[in-house]
Amino acid sequence: MEKMIECKNVTFKYDNGENTDIKLALDDVTFDVYKGEFLVILGRNGSGKSTIAKHMNCLLIPSGGKVFVDELDTSDEKNTWAIRNRAGMVFQNPDNQIVATIVEEDVAFGPENLGVEPQEIRKRVDNCLRKVNMYSYRKHAPHLLSGGQKQRVAIAGVLAMMPNCIIFDEATAMLDPSGRKEVMKTILDLNRIYKITIVLITHYMEEAVEADRIIVMDDGKISLEGDPRTIFSNVKMMKKIGLDVPQMTELSFELKNSGLNIKSDILTINEMVNELCQLE
Ligand code: ADP
Ligand code: MG
Repeated sequence: MEKMIECKNVTFKYDNGENTDIKLALDDVTFDVYKGEFLVILGRNGSGKSTIAKHMNCLLIPSGGKVFVDELDTSDEKNTWAIRNRAGMVFQNPDNQIVATIVEEDVAFGPENLGVEPQEIRKRVDNCLRKVNMYSYRKHAPHLLSGGQKQRVAIAGVLAMMPNCIIFDEATAMLDPSGRKEVMKTILDLNRIYKITIVLITHYMEEAVEADRIIVMDDGKISLEGDPRTIFSNVKMMKKIGLDVPQMTELSFELKNSGLNIKSDILTINEMVNELCQLE
């Protein structure tokens, strides 16, 4: 499989000047993100998720090791723009990412800065607003939109730069459940329909269930890696790291512990229903 992002033995220390004994925020982190993949990164607060995410579009450069985006070395300044064109980022707070007073002008901001032709900008803006299902709001004022709508405008703004990959750093954390669902559906569509590589950092296990692969970070290191079913079937290990598993996985774990003959790696309600209906 072709690599979109390659992290090789990455270490990183936030440099606070003199203080030499501050701990590593990233400690020998090695993993790849493949083209077209939907990768989820889990980990409790302070485990290094945002720090690794920021390495993926040159917001941070490794103290040791290397990060490559589409084979471009992030530590080479000449590559910064090319890398940011390939790997866009969406953050937690949509209010910090929206710059204009009209939705379509906000989406146009990125490509305008890249010097894209006005006609092409018009096409991209309409196209990207349609992809996030916000086209009918193109003349609206962003500050009057709901959190989920604002976040979708922010995503359209990133899409307008035509990235191959988008990194979402807890992009649904500030949204209400319906906003979260809207944004999650948008992210899934970007991956499945438009084949954009997704790196999703989240605290919500029902979002993580959608991943092709999950990486669990703990204390600046990778502690687990695998598909959702494999990761979440480690209920004890996940709890030890301070993380939850999806509700249905937890329930199947408890039912099994109490003697029921049931699979212990159930992820969704549908699977649970199927499994329970087959019991004698
Ligand atoms: P996460 O996103 O998983 O919550 P972070 O990547 O933000 O974790 O943080 C990893 C570690 O780096 C934590 O110990 C955190 O306190 C530290 N850290 C994060 N940002 C800074 C910063 N700007 N300056 C100093 N230390 C930081
Ligand atoms: Mg973070």
